[in-house]
Amino acid sequence: MKVCPYCHKEIPEDSKFCYHCGKEIDRKGLEKASKEQRLKKNSRQNIWSKIGLFLFFVGMIGFDFILGTVFNAIGINPKIPYYVSSILYILAIFCGIASIRTDQQDKKRGYQPTGNQKYAYVAICMSVFIGLVNLTQVIL
Ligand SMILES: [Zn+2]
Repeated sequence: MKVCPYCHKEIPEDSKFCYHCGKEIDRKGLEKASKEQRLKKNSRQNIWSKIGLFLFFVGMIGFDFILGTVFNAIGINPKIPYYVSSILYILAIFCGIASIRTDQQDKKRGYQPTGNQKYAYVAICMSVFIGLVNLTQVIL
């Protein structure tokens, strides 16, 4: 049995027309409909990717740029804010991974993923990149 993409009633596997609503069943429409139908609406909010991005920006702008400059100007060891931002970058990477994992679990359970995968990848990639720049240019 398959489901009619128009009226959502069950119809025999090989039917060309739906005998409930009379509409023609084309493969593409059917596959698209069943794919969307398989995933239920997800009430659980996956905000890990947003937390990851937030931590990344706090680390880069708040600690690397602003505090790094301020500490330098007033003569305190400017490496301190870079140490803190490195920790934030590591946390941001974990948040990105948590976001992707939560989405995978939701999909497995049949729910639509709610974490933004693009945000998650940006948080991970940018944190790794800026973290490495920090490590090689400032800390070492
Ligand atoms: Zn139908």
